[in-house]
Amino acid sequence: MDLKNKRVTVVGLGNSGINAAILAADNGAEVMATEGRDTPELRKAVKVFDGKKIKFELGGHTKGFVEGSGLVVLSPGVEDSSPAVKWATELGIPVIGEMELGYRFCKGKIIAITGTNGKSTVTTLIGEILKDGGLDTVVCGNIGNSLAGEISKIKKDTWVVLEVSSFQLEKIEYFKPAISIILNITDDHMDRYAKFDDYYNEKLKIFKNQDKDDTLILNYDANNLRGLEKSSKAKTLFYSRLGLASGAYLKDGRVTCVPGGSKTDICAVTDIPIKGDHNIENVLASSLAGCLAGAGAGSINGTIKRFKGLSHRVEPVGTVDGVEYIDDSKGTTVDSTLRALQSSKKPVILIAGGKDKNSDYRAVREAVKDKVKHLILIGEARTRIRESLGDLVDTREAETMADAVALAHSLARSGFEVLLSPMCSSFDMYRDYKHRGDVFKEAVRSLKDRQKIS
Ligand code: ADP
Repeated sequence: MDLKNKRVTVVGLGNSGINAAILAADNGAEVMATEGRDTPELRKAVKVFDGKKIKFELGGHTKGFVEGSGLVVLSPGVEDSSPAVKWATELGIPVIGEMELGYRFCKGKIIAITGTNGKSTVTTLIGEILKDGGLDTVVCGNIGNSLAGEISKIKKDTWVVLEVSSFQLEKIEYFKPAISIILNITDDHMDRYAKFDDYYNEKLKIFKNQDKDDTLILNYDANNLRGLEKSSKAKTLFYSRLGLASGAYLKDGRVTCVPGGSKTDICAVTDIPIKGDHNIENVLASSLAGCLAGAGAGSINGTIKRFKGLSHRVEPVGTVDGVEYIDDSKGTTVDSTLRALQSSKKPVILIAGGKDKNSDYRAVREAVKDKVKHLILIGEARTRIRESLGDLVDTREAETMADAVALAHSLARSGFEVLLSPMCSSFDMYRDYKHRGDVFKEAVRSLKDRQKIS
C-alpha cells in the first residue's frame, strides 16, 4: 500500500489507533488523528507521536480532520454512528479498519482466530505451540497488541497468530489469512448489533477473501458452523470433541489430528491441564493449526501439558473453609458462563452481573437448575438477570464485590464452589474484566487472612 504524501485520518486512539497512526506516518503519510476522549492517560500515550508527521485532536472530532483525507482508518471501538464515519461517507473517502491497514503491510503468514469465546485462549496456545515448535511467531491482534504495531517484527516466514474480533472484521477489505479459525458464534454484543445474524455475518467475513491455497478451520460441534464449507473457497477442516471430523477429533480419549489425511497423535485428554470441555475444543483447534503450520507432534504434546491457561478464565484462586473460589471474570457472555458451570463438579454459588449487553440470560437456565445453589447478582444487569433466572434458585443482590464474596462465603458449605462468571462486561463498576477479577481475588484473599487470624 502506497501512503506516500497521502493524507490519512485515524479515528480513535486506543492501542490500535495509535499504532495505525504510527504505521501510516512511518510509511510516508501525513496523519490526522482524532479521538473523542481526553484523559491524562491519553495525553501521556500520544507522546509517542512526538517528532512524527501526526497531527491529533483529543476530546471530540472535527470535520476538518476528515476533509481532504485519502483514507480513513477506524479503531475497532468506533461505531458507524460516529460523526467521523458519517463525514467520511458523505465525502466519499474510503474507510478501513486498523487491522486491514496492518494487513496491507504484513509480509507474514496469518493464522486468524475468531469466535465469541475462546479467542484469547486459542491465540495464546497456538502462539506457544508455534514458538515451542521452533517457528518464528508473532502473537497479536484483539488480544492486546495490534497487528499494525507489530509490523516491523514480521518477516515473510513469520507466523502471525492474530486474535480477531467481529468489530475488526466489520472494516476489512482484502484481509486474507492463510489459516482462519472460527471457534463458535453465540449470543454477544446485542447492544451493538440489531440482531444476532448481523453479528454472525460479521464473524464469517474472516474467510471471505480466502482461496483454495488457504485453510478454514471450523468447530463441527457448533451447529451454526456446519455447512459453512459450502460458502468458502478455502480448504475446510472441522474439529470435533464429540465425533470423527476431517481435521481433528478425540480417538480413545486422545487428541488426534489429520491435517493432511494421515493421523497424528497429540496427547491424551487427561494430559490437558486446563479444565472443561470447552478447553478440549480449544486444544483440538490449536493442535490442528499447529500441525498445519509445521510444529511437530512431540513438541505440541509438551506445550499442551505445560499450558496453564490465562488469568480470569475459570481460574482457581484458592480454597477457604473447604470452599473453592474460581475467577471467571472474562466470562462476559452467557455461553462462557454456561461452559464454566458445565465444567464444575461441585454445587455452585454463582456471582453474576455487570454491564448488560442485552443478552438472553435464559440460555443458562438448565445449568443453573442443575448446578447453582445460590445466585448473587451485582451491577447494572441485576434486574434483567433476576427476571430470567430468579425463579430457579435463591437469588440475592450485593452492592460491591467484597459484599458479594462475603455473602457467598456465609452461604457456602464445605465442598461448594464460588464462581465469579458475570455474563456481562465490567464497565459499570470496573475499568475492565481484569480489574473486576483482581477485586474478586482481593476479596478472597481477605477472607483467607481473616481465617488465619481467627
Ligand atoms: P475471548 O478472547 O473470545 O473472550 P477467552 O479465551 O478470553 O475468549 O475466554 C473468555 C471466556 O470464555 C472465559 O470465561 C473462558 O472460560 C470461556 N471460554 C474459553 N474457551 C471457550 C470455548 N471454546 N467455548 C466457550 N467458552 C469458552
